[in-house]
Formats: sequence, structure tokens, C-alpha cells
Amino acid sequence: MPLNDGNEPEIRAVVLDKDDCFAIPKETVIYKPYYDKFQALRAAYPGSRLLIVSNSAGTRDDIGGQEADLLERATGVKVFRHKTKKPGCGAQVFEFLRNESGNEVTRPSQIAVIGDRLSTDIMMANMSGFWGLWIKDGVVPEKSFVRLFYSWENVGVSDI
Ligand SMILES: [Mg+2]
Repeated sequence: MPLNDGNEPEIRAVVLDKDDCFAIPKETVIYKPYYDKFQALRAAYPGSRLLIVSNSAGTRDDIGGQEADLLERATGVKVFRHKTKKPGCGAQVFEFLRNESGNEVTRPSQIAVIGDRLSTDIMMANMSGFWGLWIKDGVVPEKSFVRLFYSWENVGVSDI
């Protein structure tokens, strides 16, 4: 997080994590209960002012960028293609957002990262001079009822 210089933060671009932030891991659609908030965020940060930076979609693990393509179609938001995963891609993210015309990003402190992982999303923010907004519980929190139910269901199916 940038040191407080006494001024209000001026966020000109937002970096959004995918898994457990606005989508269920391995899915490429917006988690339904978050749909309206997602659209409000898009309206507040239109075009390339909003960028999805995932450690699954758009990485080398995403063969041919298929997951990134699907995600872009489902969200209308650009998915960052990167070889180095978070937290190591802060400099590339900054360069990308700085070079997009219309963003008016000139300093890292004009970027906010929203994510649920301290060791990737928030670490990248801290290493890069971005603001970090930590989503503590994500879409499907660990050991939540939903995840336990899926685990139980999967065990049940494979045991038949
Ligand atoms: Mg995540």
C-alpha cells in the first residue's frame, strides 16, 4: 500500500482477481449474486481501466488462452496474458495499464488490486506500490457449506 501522503487515493485503474473473487474457481462466468456489483465496477472503471489478472486464466497453465477468451466474452473485461504469476507480474501490469490510452495511469498508487489471496494479490499490490483490497472470504470460502457439499457429492458419485 502506498504511504499516505495526506491526499485521498486517486484510483484510475482496478486490477481484479478471478478465482474466489468474482467467480468460482475453474469457472469462467461471474458468480450470479455478484453480477450487479460486477457491472457497477465495470461502469465505474470502463474499458481498460478494469483488468482481470488471474493466476489461472491467461497464464501458461491456460493452454491457448482458451479460459481467458471465455472469460473475456463472459465479462466484457480484458484478461491480462502473463507468463509470470502474481505476485511477480506487478511491473508488467503497471506497464500495461500505463500504456493503455485513456487510462491516465502515471503512478502505481493510481492502481488498486482486488483479490482474496494475501500471498499473491495483496503481495503484488504491496511489492508494486498499488493499493490492495483484500476479499477475506471470497466466493466459496474454504470449508464452507457449499464446498463441503460438493466434496461430499463428488465422493458419493465416485463411490457408486
Ligand atoms: Mg483468487
